[in-house]
Amino acid sequence: MTSGTVGVLALQGDVPEHTEVAASIVGPDHVRPVRTPKDLAAVDAVLLPGGESTTLSRLLDHAALREPLLERTRHGLPIMATCAGLILLARELEPSPHGRDPQTLGVLDVKVRRNDYGRQVDSFETKLEVEGLGKDVPAAFIRAPRILSVGPGVRVLARVREDPVLVREGHLWGLTFHPEVTGDPRLHRYFLTESGVLRP
Ligand code: GLN
Repeated sequence: MTSGTVGVLALQGDVPEHTEVAASIVGPDHVRPVRTPKDLAAVDAVLLPGGESTTLSRLLDHAALREPLLERTRHGLPIMATCAGLILLARELEPSPHGRDPQTLGVLDVKVRRNDYGRQVDSFETKLEVEGLGKDVPAAFIRAPRILSVGPGVRVLARVREDPVLVREGHLWGLTFHPEVTGDPRLHRYFLTESGVLRP
């Protein structure tokens, strides 16, 4: 196996967990935190962790990363975005009642409603059947967003009941759940292999 370099957006949220899973797959030397435009320029794929999307959006501007990230996304940078990360990628957010919503990048053709699986105490873990990967893939939902609709170019790779929970639009992957806290690296490996970052 050879591998490109995997970046983990390291502004807020589940950064250590994603870093650990990625390192277990590609080796620690191939994983780097992304905090600056220079960091971003040096990676071949990005993991966008969950956390709090309004804060993440603000920190993205603070770090002057919004424009470089958009620019690289337009040129095919593979991104796996989980939970708040997915919210950041979304084309459209349903406005939340309290009116404080993040400014999204608008690059993944989905409409999302934040915090739609209840509060922190309503968080749950389940097993998914993931197209192209297999059954019994564990998924933790933590104050998860709900994907309300997907555009025509978006493939749904997994659902919980009717709801899409794992979607892919070419090089952009969006997950409403957290695969990085379940101890199962298969989804990260799937993303990195499909993206050509991990090569046999
Ligand atoms: N509820 C958070 C938000 O809307 C996302 C939660 C998460 O990333 N676990 O930003």
